[in-house]
Amino acid sequence: MSDAPPRQGLLVILDGLGDRPSEALDGRTPLEAAHTPHLNRLVAEGQCGLTDPLLPGVPVDTHVGTSVLLGLAPREAMRLARGPVEATGAGVPLLPGDVALRCNLATLHATPDGLHIRDRRAGRVRDEVPALADTLVGVSLGEGITGSLHPATGHRTILRLTGAGLSDAIGDTDPGSGTEPCMLRPCRPLEESAAAHRTALAVDRFVAIAHERLRTHPLNRAREAAGLLPANGVITRGAGAVAATHNLVQHLGLRAAVLTREATVAGLARLFHFTPIELGGEDGARHAAAAGDELPALVAATEAALQDHDLVFLHIKDPDIFSHDRDPVGKRDVLERIDSALVPLLKPDRVIAVSGDHTTDSRLGRHVGDPVPSLLRVPLGRIDDRTIFGETDAAAGGLGRISSSGLLWSLLDGMGVLPNLRPRDAAYFA
Ligand SMILES: [Zn+2]
Repeated sequence: MSDAPPRQGLLVILDGLGDRPSEALDGRTPLEAAHTPHLNRLVAEGQCGLTDPLLPGVPVDTHVGTSVLLGLAPREAMRLARGPVEATGAGVPLLPGDVALRCNLATLHATPDGLHIRDRRAGRVRDEVPALADTLVGVSLGEGITGSLHPATGHRTILRLTGAGLSDAIGDTDPGSGTEPCMLRPCRPLEESAAAHRTALAVDRFVAIAHERLRTHPLNRAREAAGLLPANGVITRGAGAVAATHNLVQHLGLRAAVLTREATVAGLARLFHFTPIELGGEDGARHAAAAGDELPALVAATEAALQDHDLVFLHIKDPDIFSHDRDPVGKRDVLERIDSALVPLLKPDRVIAVSGDHTTDSRLGRHVGDPVPSLLRVPLGRIDDRTIFGETDAAAGGLGRISSSGLLWSLLDGMGVLPNLRPRDAAYFA
């Protein structure tokens, strides 16, 4: 480290940024097809490259890809489940040994084959959720295991299991959307251990008890009388234990903030003790993306956060939403709007990186393992010969092909806050 004062850092995370060529864009990717003069200028003033979110060729979810960019040690990111992330986001305290699952309140009905899922979100139930969850607190599930349901956002809830000898190696009871017939699955152990078997049984017991109690709950009777779907069951997924303990940004003592519209990313910010600045909600994301109209507010809040933080992460969900909707043209257009909206943040003395949490193929509508185009502009830092921000140029850029962690480390080094590696730091890098 030099004696120069540390520089401010900004990492822009464009969700699902990477893509593949599309016929609708004359064989270019949405980022290549987009007119992005300001991102191109950053490439011209710095370097670009391709980043692997975790491992080359391996697709990841948003919470995994983002957690690495936020500084979580890669081996912990690999084991990070959505359950504990959402739990932290919803303010549910988790202790070592607890297992947390993400749940929906859903509309179920009993058939001879088991519980059929009539509506995965119980008609997007919202107002009744805290009262319904309250009837499922401290539920005894046998063998010293207790389950409690906590409200999260909208129809979402968190199931927290406490007790000795729990395991998070259990499957989902949620069959996922798009499966027919949509039957609730029994919870399966994912490994041959006594802990996994007893935890899976406890989840099944909780699901059965929840259906019994919620089915007859006065609030659900009232919903049915009003012609609404009853929230009479719980479907579970994303079981996990507390696994995120080594975050480099936190370890370095940096004041970090995360700006996002997504509850999951805000949950990560809380997990790492960063300042979470959440604008709007996940439910609004799809609508807002159509106009990109929240971008100026997000950018203004980012500039404000930069006034009292060393490092600010700006997470923008929109590109991923267009990819999942199989709309490469819409993705191109929103990338152009993002390019213009970012201008006030692109100050010459800032260390700036732009990357994504994973690649989302907008023809397939799903995440794929291709690396993500990324750029890094460090004042007085290295400059490569690339001038365009896109997948093809990134493959020939000076950053080469590195991991998302490598991009973050380069950003931190550019800020002048990364000390020479010491043995005691090793756990934060691997
Ligand atoms: Zn994502």
